[in-house]
Amino acid sequence: MPKTGKAAVMTKAMTDLELKRFPLPVVSLGDMLVKVKCCTICGSDLHTWRGRRASPTPIILGHEIVGEIVEIGQGAGCDSGNRSLRPGDRVTWTIMDSCGKCYYCRVKGLPMKCRNLKKYGHESCAEPPHFLGGFAEYCYLSPGTCVIKLPETLTDEVAAPANCALATVIAGWEAISLKPLENVLIQGAGALGIYATALAKSYGCARIIVTDVLDQRLEFVKSFGATDTLNTTGMCADESAEVARGLTAGFGVDAAMECAGVPAVIPAGLKSLRVGGRYVQHGNVFPGAEFTYDASDIVFRWLTLTGVHNYDARHLQLAVNFLEQNREAFPFGSIVTHRVGLDELSDGLHIAESGEAIRVAVLP
Ligand SMILES: [Zn+2]
Ligand SMILES: [Zn+2]
Repeated sequence: MPKTGKAAVMTKAMTDLELKRFPLPVVSLGDMLVKVKCCTICGSDLHTWRGRRASPTPIILGHEIVGEIVEIGQGAGCDSGNRSLRPGDRVTWTIMDSCGKCYYCRVKGLPMKCRNLKKYGHESCAEPPHFLGGFAEYCYLSPGTCVIKLPETLTDEVAAPANCALATVIAGWEAISLKPLENVLIQGAGALGIYATALAKSYGCARIIVTDVLDQRLEFVKSFGATDTLNTTGMCADESAEVARGLTAGFGVDAAMECAGVPAVIPAGLKSLRVGGRYVQHGNVFPGAEFTYDASDIVFRWLTLTGVHNYDARHLQLAVNFLEQNREAFPFGSIVTHRVGLDELSDGLHIAESGEAIRVAVLP
């Protein structure tokens, strides 16, 4: 086995990543060393890289990861389904390591907000074990991480975005209790919006309206079950809400989801809801994402507005199950549109940012 591994390191926001070598860690009790096979670039990697939100440096970004177990420390032998794990197994794992003992883990059921939280792709890589992000040859997993063995039917590129985009969207629809036959609005046709659409379709929703500002994305999302698409370029909130009402017998949608990472779309989402409608937003993961809205509309029309950040381990398990059960129903294999090596990662970040790609895969 090699003694060192490569990683693409961000030493400063807004600058190109640097390829560095770190010594491979000694695997401790309960831990695991995984060889990264594929890591897809998430919108939040771009926010950090662009300095829109604070992060420690140096850092190895990347958290939508699929890997192969290289070494297992004593006592780390089972996955989420109690299946035994061995070197060579292909796995994905939760974005977070949570302690299972604190107020949020034990009392409030919010392990993604654990008081001792560690997140892959979000921690400094200055100290051993160094390998804590996906843009590297290896990743070192600690015991508070939920590891999931992947079915052979799912390719690395299909499975990788489950780890953030798909699991988060599952948590989002759950938070506003999406029901069969409801009419929904999905704002944004990037990876989050695509998965939100496929889920709404498989839940049996009636009208699935998707908005974006890029026609090629709106065209693509039709193959995931969108019944209606709308390019909202130059439209005000009232205009796009009018379209949503027109498609729902004048009432508005039952539920809406913000998948755009643009706070300016929130008023259009709220205005598109029927009386008693529910709205969830999870794309605005950077501070300063402000919006203005008439609070009386939320009161008079009984609206619910909620936020969802990350997910619980069961949402990731559901994400993997969903992909496996629906692999013939939707073209998940075409979500990764571009591929780069570790040494071309800065180019990959630019492509991901341009909107030209749905997901860029990093293949170390
Ligand atoms: Zn905790
Ligand atoms: Zn993410």
